[in-house]
Amino acid sequence: MQVTREMFNEVMAPNYNPAGFIPVRGQGSRVWDQNGDEYIDFAGGIAVNVLGHCHPELVAALKEQGEKLWHLSNVFTNEPALRLAKKLTDATFAERVYFANSGAEANEAALKLARRYALDNFGEQKDQIISFKQGFHGRTFFTVTVGGQAAYSDGFGPKPGAVEHVDYNDLDALKAIISDRTCAVMMEPLQGEGGIISPTDEFVKGVRALCDQHNALLIFDEVQSGVGRTGELYAYMGLGVTPDILTTAKALGGGFPIGAMLTTAKIAESLKVGTHGSTYGGNPLACAVAERALDIVNTREVLDDVKRKEQVFRDGFAAINDKYHVFEEVRGKGLLLGGALNKDYQGRAREFLVAATEQKLMCLVAGANVVRFAPALNISDEDIKEGLARFERAVERVVNG
Ligand SMILES: *Cc1c(COP(=O)(O)O)cnc(C)c1O
Repeated sequence: MQVTREMFNEVMAPNYNPAGFIPVRGQGSRVWDQNGDEYIDFAGGIAVNVLGHCHPELVAALKEQGEKLWHLSNVFTNEPALRLAKKLTDATFAERVYFANSGAEANEAALKLARRYALDNFGEQKDQIISFKQGFHGRTFFTVTVGGQAAYSDGFGPKPGAVEHVDYNDLDALKAIISDRTCAVMMEPLQGEGGIISPTDEFVKGVRALCDQHNALLIFDEVQSGVGRTGELYAYMGLGVTPDILTTAKALGGGFPIGAMLTTAKIAESLKVGTHGSTYGGNPLACAVAERALDIVNTREVLDDVKRKEQVFRDGFAAINDKYHVFEEVRGKGLLLGGALNKDYQGRAREFLVAATEQKLMCLVAGANVVRFAPALNISDEDIKEGLARFERAVERVVNG
């Protein structure tokens, strides 16, 4: 069958608007389309392909498990899931793991657990969930409601209740509405979709203190910031603040769908038999790939190299900006970086993305004013250099019309 981009409009629901070419093959941080054109990948499948495309060890893990056992349901447990859960608990504050298939599902589990934990331990009046404007937590109806972007949550009828939003990095605003009625505060420890916004030290520590003061659980959504992205295994490790519940997905499977919610033994008690579940969650195939990805990422060499590469990117963007003056600042941490456009280019992030695509570079946006980069953590210095050269040509095109 001859497959073309035009087919998308004929057979797919119109909720996406993909690029004009169809990628067919990837290796490391390079991708080829149907015409054999080669792209450098600074997008990483939206912070997912943490080890690039078709990493030989992930392919081996997939093949090995694919010939043993794919799926059982949670009527049975399995070895890869137990090994992965053991490694995640050994590597983090957490003592218990719930597996899901995506970030939204991990967050849905976290929010339901927070509500149930409050009900079990404090009573039904403790139901308020506080989260932050511009936050993103997924597209199920509960997670989109907790997320702080009306464009994603409105237009679907009545929303789940008792959800409040305040400005990120505004501790006083949180202080003003948090109370003993608050069951949880949910936040990204580095806002991704919302524009690559880091929390201030005072803010993130203040949020923790307010949660403690009011017996509210602190949920860190590390779906985008987790698994080495910031140069720590999880971003919380670099902030000096430990959450009560952490969600992880995206990079966890290195491109294979998986999500997880991590928490303490005490909080997990409220997820009693039958309270929550998933048919596929924790399936052996996903867990085998994720286990291998975690083994590779969670080493000092890989994590330290993320910090080194951050500087290579920052130096490259600074040199481009010296010439073309498009960014007000480059922000973010590790290999989750955002070029925030200055006042001359407000609202035009998409133009930079389109121009980059024309130069055979894949990148992302985070809102209308930020060009976002989330490459594989193991991207080679050569690919960074070539990608930056392509990005410079794209910037030149936008600037010179
Ligand atoms: C991508 C993302 C999600 C949603 O993950 P899905 O796998 O698309 O459901 C949730 N939270 C954050 C912070 C994300 O970046």
